Amino acid sequence: MVTPLREKTVSPASVRPDPEPLSGIQCLRDPLRNKGTAFTRDERARLDIDGLLPPRVETLEEQAARALENVRVKTGPLEKYRYLSALQAENETLFYRVVLDRLEEMLPIIYTPTVGEACVEWSRLYERPRGLYISAQHRGRIAGLLGRWPRRRAGIIVVTDGGRILGLGDLGANGMGIPIGKLALYTACAGVPPELCLPVTLDVGTDNASLRGDRFYLGERQARMTGNAYDALLEEFVTATQAVFPGVIVQFEDFNNACAFRLLQRYRDRLCCFNDDVQGTGAMGLAGLYAAGRITGRGLPAQRILFVGAGEACLGIGASVVAAMQREGLSEVEARERCLFIDSRGLVVASRSDLAEHKRPFAQDRSALPDLPAAVEDFRPTVLIGACGQGGVFTQPVIEAMARLNERPVVFALSNPTSKAECTAGQAYAWSSGRAVFASGSPFGPVTLAGCTRAPAQGNNSWIFPGVGLGLLLSGARHVTDEMFQAAARTLAAQVSQADLDQGRIFPVAARMREVAAAVAAAVAGIAYEQGHATKPQPRNLHAEATGAMYTPRYA
Ligand code: NAD
Repeated sequence: MVTPLREKTVSPASVRPDPEPLSGIQCLRDPLRNKGTAFTRDERARLDIDGLLPPRVETLEEQAARALENVRVKTGPLEKYRYLSALQAENETLFYRVVLDRLEEMLPIIYTPTVGEACVEWSRLYERPRGLYISAQHRGRIAGLLGRWPRRRAGIIVVTDGGRILGLGDLGANGMGIPIGKLALYTACAGVPPELCLPVTLDVGTDNASLRGDRFYLGERQARMTGNAYDALLEEFVTATQAVFPGVIVQFEDFNNACAFRLLQRYRDRLCCFNDDVQGTGAMGLAGLYAAGRITGRGLPAQRILFVGAGEACLGIGASVVAAMQREGLSEVEARERCLFIDSRGLVVASRSDLAEHKRPFAQDRSALPDLPAAVEDFRPTVLIGACGQGGVFTQPVIEAMARLNERPVVFALSNPTSKAECTAGQAYAWSSGRAVFASGSPFGPVTLAGCTRAPAQGNNSWIFPGVGLGLLLSGARHVTDEMFQAAARTLAAQVSQADLDQGRIFPVAARMREVAAAVAAAVAGIAYEQGHATKPQPRNLHAEATGAMYTPRYA
């Protein structure tokens, strides 16, 4: 028998005493308990809320049908986002029912690309609190703030400092849309119970002058903290997470790269934490390359990969690729030679004196080149991966050159939101005469070219991190290792069917998110047991355990 995740994932120390039973009004206001019109007549009488709801008692399915209609009549994505946010704040069961019933339709609304728009407008759209906002004024009392979280447990914290929100730059406290959205994906895609999810924004100020000058901006109107003050705030926060919710997983999200690599290095051996932008993207990209190889017939060690961008995403994929190539027989030097990076200042080469520490291991011993087209001609890549946040950098000549050099050029335009994509799906196919093997960070619809329709896949971290988190919870892992992400990548790639590939899709369809997450979770938990990082007794069948532990939106 499978033990419910919520009973076993958190050590006893992190479970706070049962709160007082809620009054009827409190139940109506608590999104985890509210059933709205689905409260039965008996429940209405017992809770003393008779008359506070319309007379008809509805089923969850009836409520979901109405909510779906309401989403669909909203005119634009942001309006749909606002409606769904309000629904989530009122009744989480109903929210997740609607999302799960129409995953493919809802994911682009509750997450990228719409979440980017929502973050830009966050302070203007703001209606009600969700998550914890922690700023410099809370120094010395962060544990107290975390203790104020009105749930008894926390299993996963997603935290941002708003430093690099998607490809939109520094959005300060407006970045809160990201932890909220990512945690919604944990529940929707991997069935992590919503009551275990805690979104946090560390408001360390913002260097975005227009935000600071915006009369509606809700964050601290100060320059972004740096140096010791920043590090001390992070240290206090991380320490407090473990004191208040021992063993809680901490996912670092959308920190700028000056902080992301440093924080990961500092904390990865201390607690169960990971950086999704680096490690999650790394695994997603690697999985995409494995699947693309099944179309091109070229194995991973034979690929030559040109990365446009040398930040968290590209370096994360680069590190995963190098480790995977080594696993397949190349030396580290040989593997690194097959990965070339370009950043905003040009080719990442050893002669550059301006390279940040985290880029150095990837610097190649070769001459600088003037631009991307020159790099394509010189390096002759089989794969072009963009994650530079610069919309349109994969121009027609660049894609045409890739198509000249390769029978099936592999092109990943990973930047989010859609406006930042390095090229669109339509452009990749048109400029390669339909031969590109394409994936993108934000979704693109099917493209028909010369009578042939291709349905490109979304290469998004949401294929990885929800399953990773579930696997960590299942095993009670103390640490997150690179081998876990490598296993997640292989597992995700194995989930791509021949039918997917035949339609030009190198990731599965969104409707299979939970199935994939269960497989990823089992693989990650398996590594946790193998490497001795697990703290929970090992179940006989990890896959069944992962599936059985998933939250299903239904009323108790
Ligand atoms: P980052 O800030 O860490 O890195 C951006 C990199 O791009 C830097 O190295 C910068 O020098 C480089 N760059 C900027 N302009 C350039 C140009 N014109 N040519 C070449 N390089 C240039 O950001 P990141 O975390 O790596 O994210 C980058 C983008 O990737 C964002 O849009 C983000 O949303 C997206 N992303 C997508 C996924 C996904 O799942 N699809 C995952 C992570 C990040």
